[in-house]
Amino acid sequence: MVGPDQQLPLPWLARPLSQALATARSHALLVQGPAGVGQFDLAMLLGQAWLCETPLQDAGRQGWACGNCASCHLFQSHTHPDFMLLLPEALREQLGWAADSEAPVKESKTKPSREIKVDAVRAMLSFAQATSARGRAKVVVVYPAEALNTVAANALLKTLEEPAGVLRFVLASTAPEALLPTIRSRCQPVPLALPDTAPSLQWLKAQGVEGPEILLAAAGGRPQEARDWFEAGLRASAWQQLPQRLARGEVALGDWPQPRAIDALQRLCHDLLRLAHGAAPSYFPADSLPKPKLAAPLHAWDAQLRRAARHAEHPLNAGLLMESLFAQGQQALREAMPRRG
Ligand SMILES: [Zn+2]
Repeated sequence: MVGPDQQLPLPWLARPLSQALATARSHALLVQGPAGVGQFDLAMLLGQAWLCETPLQDAGRQGWACGNCASCHLFQSHTHPDFMLLLPEALREQLGWAADSEAPVKESKTKPSREIKVDAVRAMLSFAQATSARGRAKVVVVYPAEALNTVAANALLKTLEEPAGVLRFVLASTAPEALLPTIRSRCQPVPLALPDTAPSLQWLKAQGVEGPEILLAAAGGRPQEARDWFEAGLRASAWQQLPQRLARGEVALGDWPQPRAIDALQRLCHDLLRLAHGAAPSYFPADSLPKPKLAAPLHAWDAQLRRAARHAEHPLNAGLLMESLFAQGQQALREAMPRRG
């Protein structure tokens, strides 16, 4: 959100924010694009701007929230009476919206839900019916929209169909094709693409991320993902060494959560395939990679990785699986680089 210094926490959102504010015609916007580039942040910036009582008027920041008015202060302290956020429980803490004022967290073994449940949508419906407390607007942010379960999505649909005066919505989704078509068709799309490299690197450096060039490429150009990986312990040097460790048959990434480790191997396989087809790699520095000649063995490894990825959340034996995936990768690489002679 915009603070008193009127700076955006994610600098590459400046253009998409101005564009969305200038072109918004619908009472419901759907921010869509890849994960890890600030969808949630953009949705919140739009919400804050609509609620702000003295939005900025200067060129380049037309309509942005001021960061200083009473409404902005309420927004920043998560207590704005005209704002409602629909978020799965599983994301609350990560996004800084853990409910500290509500009942203490139950001592239960159930994992926090990844869904937005119908109860939350029902609470939103009564919020929607009340008059605006500060008289400016009422804003609902739904993130990620694909987390709405079917019942919740159908309940939301009713308010999207009959907007109540000053009520506005921002939905954000990395998988808009997974939304009900009726929800999609009632929202104005706001595409959010990968940011340019320069602002991404600048931001990563400001976050204290070491080796930002390598990690940004590893994360496919998604700066928030690169930052998350760094915070989870991934170092640029370990990423650069991964191809050689595979070639030597060493099992690396042992301390990574399994889905992320498999994802890393898929990126490595993707890059090896690109090289075998004469294209430039996407995720690894070119000089860190062996130069395979044949694609077929790598396609076979790719298929094995895909199968493993489908079951990555429920591995039977994580250690054994990784050993087997590395062994298959090493074998594929050997076959892809036949020695002449
Ligand atoms: Zn303001």
